[in-house]
Amino acid sequence: MSDPAMSRTKRPASSVRGAVPRLRDDRELGGRHVILVVLDSLRFDSMAAARPRLALRLGPLQRRWSYATWTGPAHYNLLMGLLPHDAGPGSFAAAWHGAELSAWGRRLGREDLGLPALGPALWLPSALRERCGYFTQAFVSMPALNPAVPLAVGFDRYVSMPRHNDVHAIYGALSFPEDRPSFTLINTGETHYPYATAEEPPGGWPRLPGVHGVFGRLANGQPLTEAEAPAFFSPPHLRELKARQVRAASAMDDALEHLFDRCPRGAHIILTSDHGELFGEDGFFGHGPIHHEKVLEVPFVEGLLD
Ligand SMILES: [Zn+2]
Repeated sequence: MSDPAMSRTKRPASSVRGAVPRLRDDRELGGRHVILVVLDSLRFDSMAAARPRLALRLGPLQRRWSYATWTGPAHYNLLMGLLPHDAGPGSFAAAWHGAELSAWGRRLGREDLGLPALGPALWLPSALRERCGYFTQAFVSMPALNPAVPLAVGFDRYVSMPRHNDVHAIYGALSFPEDRPSFTLINTGETHYPYATAEEPPGGWPRLPGVHGVFGRLANGQPLTEAEAPAFFSPPHLRELKARQVRAASAMDDALEHLFDRCPRGAHIILTSDHGELFGEDGFFGHGPIHHEKVLEVPFVEGLLD
């Protein structure tokens, strides 16, 4: 999963901090820092089972629904301003859509910012940078989000981490400008298969026949064949994998202390996932080409850092 070639700087995470460039023009400044943390593949019920403590300092744990089932399209939705939604029966989809985009004004502390502020591109990083003078930065961990993809548009700083599962390296590399607000996207993969934190040696990760090779081929942009698909997993193996994701979610809650130490007071923090994961439900494992309730059901917490 680690792929140093994906790093734009090809330097260790600790050296990507750098200095935030000063703003050189007089765009209308204002608004609060916003940090969007995406715990890749984390199911709602896995986070609930992890009994988070620090996350609840921000707000209650909500069950919401992602717009997409895979990392790439889910992040495109997030950066279009479409955070996981909680629309239910009786909602008019178009009305809900408008209300959710307008809610960005509240998050940013700029009630004048809403759907119109996104502009014709409907792209949050560009709108914040170009209209509001925000400093925009992203620290991403999954190969599907590497700096060559269009998702990187609109960011002043876009860093692919050398390891897919080292959120502490991301938190340690964060810096925030003092003269203007910032928007930060963080994607980390501890809660993605194989559900391992950076502290766990790879030798202890679950060994699933074929799957490691499959991920290696995907990371290199190579097509897969039917014959490469791994055999399906046994029920005990699936239960073990689910338990690993719960433990990874608990570790991500503990790691929030590091984030809270780094973030400016009063920042608006959003903690969510890009999609869920299936652990054998209806015969499926994983996410992606599976439109199942548990792939779309994700955790969502947001609030101000006091
Ligand atoms: Zn993902």
